[in-house]
Amino acid sequence: MNENLHIHIESLTAKVLENLASKSVVDKNDERTGVFMDMNDAIEASYVAQKELVKLPMEERNSLIESIRACANQQAEELAKMTVEETGMGRVEDKILKNKLAAEKTPGTEDLRTESFSGDNGLTVVELSPFGVIGSITPTTNPTETVINNGIGMIAAGNAVVFSPHPSAKKTTVKVIQMLNEAIVEAGGPRNLLTTIAQPKVEQTNILLSHEKIQMIVATGGPGLVNLALSSGKKTIGAGAGNPPALVDETANIEKAAEDIVAGASFDNNLPCTSEEEVIVVDSVADYLKFNMKKYRTYEIEDKNTLKKLEELIIQDGRINKAYVGRDAGYILEKIGISTEQDVRLIMMEVDFNHPLVQLELMMPILPIVRVKDVKQGIELAVKAEHGNRHTAIMHSKNVDHLTEFGRKIQTTIFVKNGPSYCGIGIGGEGHTTFTIAGPTGEGLTSAKSFARRRRCVLVDGLSIR
Ligand code: NAD
Repeated sequence: MNENLHIHIESLTAKVLENLASKSVVDKNDERTGVFMDMNDAIEASYVAQKELVKLPMEERNSLIESIRACANQQAEELAKMTVEETGMGRVEDKILKNKLAAEKTPGTEDLRTESFSGDNGLTVVELSPFGVIGSITPTTNPTETVINNGIGMIAAGNAVVFSPHPSAKKTTVKVIQMLNEAIVEAGGPRNLLTTIAQPKVEQTNILLSHEKIQMIVATGGPGLVNLALSSGKKTIGAGAGNPPALVDETANIEKAAEDIVAGASFDNNLPCTSEEEVIVVDSVADYLKFNMKKYRTYEIEDKNTLKKLEELIIQDGRINKAYVGRDAGYILEKIGISTEQDVRLIMMEVDFNHPLVQLELMMPILPIVRVKDVKQGIELAVKAEHGNRHTAIMHSKNVDHLTEFGRKIQTTIFVKNGPSYCGIGIGGEGHTTFTIAGPTGEGLTSAKSFARRRRCVLVDGLSIR
């Protein structure tokens, strides 16, 4: 083929693909499944739906939630495949697990516990009531899990939700919202309890942040988003970035610590904001830890030039190159000219504490290792690496004093001891799950009660039967 013609066809194809990517997922309002062309219409529709929701008895609210759970469980695999295809990030098998986790371990209405006081002056109860319509801004790293998780918790508390999807995950985010809305309608609930827009844009998010019918904002994403949401003047739950350190001391079960660290750091290719982002290990056990990590499909980069190549690939102008977020370890290795026969899950390397691989939240299956002389220095550096995000930290140790001291100093919302990081969100650890971990605003692992207002109801001089 003529060279010029070939170039012309290539550029036309690129333009068509670009146009397709910027196209809306639907081209007109779809009220049955909650997808709108304009944010104002989505908000108005959810406003009406919320008024219908609160007319239903709690038993019916529970049936809607059961229907959402069943749908999300049934569609977990399809949604996982769609997400990986659309975003190019993460691992299908891990995303299936995360979708199922959100479907099964997100608390429902049982989370709304009434408080009471009774005495000479009667009976007072504190009830958890809805805010109304919540604006939920969702990330690209857990798009479907966040919709399932926030959807259940927010509806359980009696709210309707307008979602602003991440542009790079819009197709999948819109799809899960459509599926869940159908499940709600099938169970006899109102249309548009969950709504969204077909074409996410910053201007549309701004409408959400300033609309008078939005009573709460829940922002799940990086610091830029959380700060933007906090400046909205509305009640805001901010779930921001982390940079979780995993600290290993000389008393730990090193074989198990190695297995746990690899499992946590490579889970969904390091996309969860809770994943181990750097290991800080006491020198006397560092070699044995690395030796054991290699048993679990971990590749160590030892050569300085190769490390330089990796840095140039994944860090640009002091920031992470988003093209490599959530990519497979094998894919990243290939890009720096390394091919391995083994199906590598994680890439590790030894670096100094100040290295950008330690300081940046990578969200890639790449794990820098920093040696320290003792646990005291380890605690000090791990606290610095977390940057005051108050998000997640992990420690492997059998010494209660060490664990206590680290817990006190690190002040994170989640502190996992002697397990993979994901135990902190209910995978192999006790407690409910969430995909909105609110460190900056302090709600912690959000659930229905985080999306409810506390209202006091006082009956004077009656119904106290003590
Ligand atoms: P991101 O901040 O790029 O995007 C999150 C959402 O905010 C998207 O919908 C995006 O379109 C929107 N957004 C971002 N900046 C905006 C702006 N200026 N105006 C309007 N909308 C804006 O985050 P991401 O890449 O999708 O997710 C990764 C980040 O989120 C990581 O830092 C991770 O730690 C964090 N995260 C935190 C939690 C948590 O629970 N704390 C959960 C998931 C992700």
